[in-house]
Amino acid sequence: MKYEVVIIGSGPAGYTAALYAARAGLSPLVIAGPEPGGQLTRTSEVENFPGYPEGVLGGQLMDDLRRQAERFGTKVLYDVVEKVELRPFPKKLWLSGGETVEADAVIIATGSSPRWLGLEAEKRLYGAGVSACAVCDGYFFRGKPVAVVGGGDSACEEAMYLSRLCSEVHMLVRRDQMRASRIMQERVRATPNIHIHWNTITVDILGEQKVEGARVRHVLTGEETILPVQGFFVAIGHVPNTEIFRNQVALDAAGYILTEPKSTRTNIEGVFAAGDVQDPIYRQAVTAAGTGCMAALEAERWLMEQKHRKATLGVS
Ligand SMILES: Cc1cc2nc3c(=O)[nH]c(=O)nc-3n(C[C@H](O)[C@H](O)[C@H](O)COP(=O)(O)OP(=O)(O)OC[C@H]3O[C@@H](n4cnc5c(N)ncnc54)[C@H](O)[C@@H]3O)c2cc1C
Repeated sequence: MKYEVVIIGSGPAGYTAALYAARAGLSPLVIAGPEPGGQLTRTSEVENFPGYPEGVLGGQLMDDLRRQAERFGTKVLYDVVEKVELRPFPKKLWLSGGETVEADAVIIATGSSPRWLGLEAEKRLYGAGVSACAVCDGYFFRGKPVAVVGGGDSACEEAMYLSRLCSEVHMLVRRDQMRASRIMQERVRATPNIHIHWNTITVDILGEQKVEGARVRHVLTGEETILPVQGFFVAIGHVPNTEIFRNQVALDAAGYILTEPKSTRTNIEGVFAAGDVQDPIYRQAVTAAGTGCMAALEAERWLMEQKHRKATLGVS
């Protein structure tokens, strides 16, 4: 099948791009990917997305965005893009379901994935106490002690969520300060069952079949302690989902897609990038949605220019 615009990813960036492209009459295709609805489906309450004065559940927000995009003619395909060829015209996408899709313009909105510490135990115990998603797995640790690694907004949010379910939350912070916003830090510090361990790294996660503890080290004194946690949540940031675009579009050193200043244009004609996949700084739903809007408007203008050029040259 061939489409004027194909959007890869169904997070806030993808669905907002779809909404604008659909209302411009472009009948876009959204390929939902491995996580339909994106990262917000992993969280509970979203309080900072404009238009929801009482807050909204992440899953509900994404459902609303999908329905709004579909209302104007967006088609959503529940498949994953495995390979792309972005340079020739039209652009080609190979999907894991076996289908091939062609597109005049492509909007990349594949977001990012959790970063891990790199310990062997993370792999061994993933799904058996090791997690990167408190909302998905916190329920299994009701009334039990857990650890959260990290000092950013994500780590604070994970810790806050777990504090309502678990007996104790040990926050392991590598430095003597956090990267998190002041309001998040204040919330964490004001929560009685969250214990912040400053200057602390994880040496190992203990247990064979399930997490039975974490061996941590104070980086200044070298002292090692075993925390008797049963859940171990890693919240140390994200890696942009750009593996399939390597050698196709220009990326920065961390793998984020490079876009022109004040634009979503990449270095490839007709390829635009929106949301967390091109944003190592803000990484918020509303900024993802904002750049999704920009990408659709830019894609629409680019398509118009192509049509105009072809008409001028008399090419069909
Ligand atoms: C626990 C948690 C809580 C958060 N809370 C908030 C909050 O309260 N407020 C806020 O503003 N932000 C919050 N965020 C951040 C917010 O979720 C992200 O900034 C936002 O979702 C980014 O949107 P995106 O569309 O760029 O990407 P994502 O939401 O990451 O979506 C990426 C999409 O790309 C798809 N995809 C990936 N690879 C492929 C592929 N190969 N083929 C096809 N599709 C693919 C995925 O399936 C997914 O649908 C939170 C994040 C987390 C993890």
